[in-house]
Amino acid sequence: MKLDLLGDRQRTHYCGELRKSHAGRTVFLAGWVARRRDLGNLIFLDLRDHTGVIQVVCNREVSAEVHAKAEEIRAEYVVGIEGEVVLRPSDTVNPQISTGEVEVMARTLLLLNEAKTPPFPIEDDIRTSEEARLRHRYLDLRRRRMQHHLRLRHRASLTVREHMTAHGFVEVETPFLTRSTPEGARDYLVPSRIHHGHFYALPQSPQLFKQILMIAGYDRYFQIVRCFRDEDLRADRQPEFTQVDVEMAFPQRDVLFDIIEQLMEKLFALIEAKVRRPFPRLSYDEVMERYGSDKPHLGFGLEWKRVNLPEGAGEKLHVRQPIKVLRVPGWATAARSQLDKLQDLARANAADWFSYAKVGDSEIQSPLGKILGEEAVRTLAAGAEAGAGDLVLLLGLKSGSGAPGPQQRLDAASGELRLELARKLDLIKPGEWNFLWVVDFPMFEYDEKAKRFAAMHHPFTSPREEDLEKLESDPAAVKARAYDLVLNGSEIGGGSIRIHRPDIQKRVFSVLGLTPEKARERFGFFLDALECGTPPHGGIALGYDRIIALMAGESNIREVIAFPKTASAVDLMCDAPAPVDPEQLDELGINIKN
Ligand code: ASP
Repeated sequence: MKLDLLGDRQRTHYCGELRKSHAGRTVFLAGWVARRRDLGNLIFLDLRDHTGVIQVVCNREVSAEVHAKAEEIRAEYVVGIEGEVVLRPSDTVNPQISTGEVEVMARTLLLLNEAKTPPFPIEDDIRTSEEARLRHRYLDLRRRRMQHHLRLRHRASLTVREHMTAHGFVEVETPFLTRSTPEGARDYLVPSRIHHGHFYALPQSPQLFKQILMIAGYDRYFQIVRCFRDEDLRADRQPEFTQVDVEMAFPQRDVLFDIIEQLMEKLFALIEAKVRRPFPRLSYDEVMERYGSDKPHLGFGLEWKRVNLPEGAGEKLHVRQPIKVLRVPGWATAARSQLDKLQDLARANAADWFSYAKVGDSEIQSPLGKILGEEAVRTLAAGAEAGAGDLVLLLGLKSGSGAPGPQQRLDAASGELRLELARKLDLIKPGEWNFLWVVDFPMFEYDEKAKRFAAMHHPFTSPREEDLEKLESDPAAVKARAYDLVLNGSEIGGGSIRIHRPDIQKRVFSVLGLTPEKARERFGFFLDALECGTPPHGGIALGYDRIIALMAGESNIREVIAFPKTASAVDLMCDAPAPVDPEQLDELGINIKN
């Protein structure tokens, strides 16, 4: 096929912007052919660019040359069209598309390029495997939906930059080739050619750099920054992902919260969503008791309570105190099979004691009745504030199951049950944005395998001042000045007020089992900086991909990342990771083990 040259022709309009008011104008459009319909003397082309689609008419009687070229055209060919905008006859107006009242009578058609038949149609709703979409990402990204998402992301970035700048934050770029920073995951390593046997690490976050910027007097820093974590991948994790990273000196937590809440309000205004401020603040202990999760979805009720069974009942039932109870409003009608499923789910989450009570007008029905007596069951139901028509779920751990962390296990199981109930009873309403701050996290968690304490956030997080004296004597009881931002059951950010005093930093390292030598080896540069007049400081990092995905109504962050990797960390389009030439390895002084 003979192709035309674009020459010096300049597009006058985008396809999606043509309206009735353009009728009579001569326009030059350029884009991809989305569809071709051949009616003999008339050939209709749907011409697409990133703004939308317009119908182009190639009429043999207007131009035999245009018509002949149009006969050759297939989907995704690239064309330039010059012609006149005309009103469509009223019976062919298409109210489905914004340009549906007009069409363009083609007078000139430039065939700019051909295209292979695409492996899937370039449409909003396609039923094709994600693998095919990722392999041919250039075609997938052509779809309107993806165009929308990436443009939304761009506008969100502008909003972040404007907002943070208005609050006195400066964007500073921090290095990608660096030393390992401690965020608890595995590092991606980059071998050095000049220093054989030495490696850079790609940053898991700019944590230490942003703290050093505070030491250096930059006062307020932010960065929209790529972070790299070589984790065992879960469905919606990416080995490289983006954070809005924030740090400020002399921070008051509430000031930081307010800045971030305002940012969320502005971001969600981009999708015309209203955000209620201030966001609720709940302590870690409270959310674990009530919602069984440190990232609870607050869009529906269903709140657990920890209660003690009546005198002697724990022994009779062989269950540990306290148990947890949940009122499920109006679900006394639950079928046996539905309750069985919940019990299975509880077991699968290591909560091995499960029961229920159905509250009627005068009677109460529960397998516990026979063992404990009706009065005791009534007391339990009253403890859950259940009334007629409600179901009460009871969850616990059998006594004797002596594994550690029983309360955590019970809480985690209760959280899973709560989410399952919300799904089953269809309680999660779309279009509602339930933000909250979870505060006062424990400073440490006990690592059973390693038999030592690990930092729950990271080792630079400050303990609460009032807990400092317990640091060595009762680490498990120390709370951190750490916080998470949660939206609709997803953690979308986390941060803390940091340790700014070397003496406290040393004590925390020591609780973590890090000898002064080890600490020096890993973060010597940072410890040196810490001794040079470190102001109190703190910050947060927001999970930018997740926030954009929520705004775009997508459940997977891959939908809002231009070139994501699969769940097994592979880039299907460029086929990375890939082997490299032996010469490259040689230069790096690397031998690959078989
Ligand atoms: N660097 C931390 C993270 O990436 C966030 C923070 O503490 O600011 O999770």
